[in-house]
Amino acid sequence: MNNKVYFTPGPSELYPTVPQHMNTALQEKIGSISHRSKQFQEIFAHAVAGLRQLLQLPENYEVLFLASATEIWERAIQNTVQQESFHLVNGSFSARFFETTQELGLKAQKHEVPFSEGFDVPGITVPASAELVALIQNETSSGAAMPVAEINLFREKASSDALIYVDAVSSLPNPAFDFSKVDAVYFSVQKCFGLPAGLGVWLLNDRCIAKAEALAAQGQTIGSYHSIPAMLSKAKANQTVETPNVLDIYLLGKVVEDMNSKGVEAIREETEAKASLIYEYLEQSKTFTPAVENPQHRSPTTIVANTLVPASEVNKRLAEFDMAVGSGYGKYKETQIRIANFPAHSPEQVKALVEKLKELFE
Ligand SMILES: *Cc1c(COP(=O)(O)O)cnc(C)c1O
Repeated sequence: MNNKVYFTPGPSELYPTVPQHMNTALQEKIGSISHRSKQFQEIFAHAVAGLRQLLQLPENYEVLFLASATEIWERAIQNTVQQESFHLVNGSFSARFFETTQELGLKAQKHEVPFSEGFDVPGITVPASAELVALIQNETSSGAAMPVAEINLFREKASSDALIYVDAVSSLPNPAFDFSKVDAVYFSVQKCFGLPAGLGVWLLNDRCIAKAEALAAQGQTIGSYHSIPAMLSKAKANQTVETPNVLDIYLLGKVVEDMNSKGVEAIREETEAKASLIYEYLEQSKTFTPAVENPQHRSPTTIVANTLVPASEVNKRLAEFDMAVGSGYGKYKETQIRIANFPAHSPEQVKALVEKLKELFE
């Protein structure tokens, strides 16, 4: 039996209702049903309707299920870029999207700032030739976040037919996006939705769909089974092209239903309150300091701190009390820790973590 509470930034702690939904799924033999059955169509429709409600998604948006956010990067480029994309880069995940464009043989430009920094958005110029503008709302590797008000400035900066994509993989449902100011937002379920990994969710509007159709009509290869038109034709019938991760789609629908019962506003308020608790501790700690200097750019959901005690040692000590935080990302593995503050983490669990860190490290 593992009683550890995972404050790791994904995979992370499961949403508290997951065990009960998992039990029901086994009893209902969800793992055995056909993905062409009416039962699956209801599971699909339930998950989509729940997400629409939770995120207040406008009518001109569609919801598609893919394998991961990493897959969405590749499909985004294949389906909605002919020549060139533009990326804001301030850490490993945003850099990876930039590299994906290059690996697919297209031109990628970037505006890069150092690790641990947010962006000075008013000062950013978007090249007029950029067809896709890749924004990173929450850079999980560094803990830097972009306020929604600044995301909303890009519509004016980009050319009128450019598509604005937002990586909200480790923050949704916390940011209250204005979906009319962007064209696509995506996330993976193992971060803030507190589910086992294996599902990426792509929210995209009619402009993205029209672009994919136009590129296909011009003879561009937009991929095969996971091209936007292929996925959409099945999604209209509450189905997927391939045999999907039915269990995860089922669990997502259930967890989103639970989130809707709690209310997205309550989840957001709780997230902010727990984040304040953690940042207040880090500010006065002798061992840790918040890695992101500008408080405006500090992520509420993935909190990164510089540490004087190696991250592996921090976790060794926390393990005795059944707690785990994330180590730093890449070359910051030992010099930083990352603390996930997701909806699955109760205020009591966060309080207990902060108390324990205080006791063990000052
Ligand atoms: C985790 C993460 C990804 C990649 O998600 P996968 O599900 O592993 O493909 C992309 N972007 C950000 C910001 C992430 O935190």
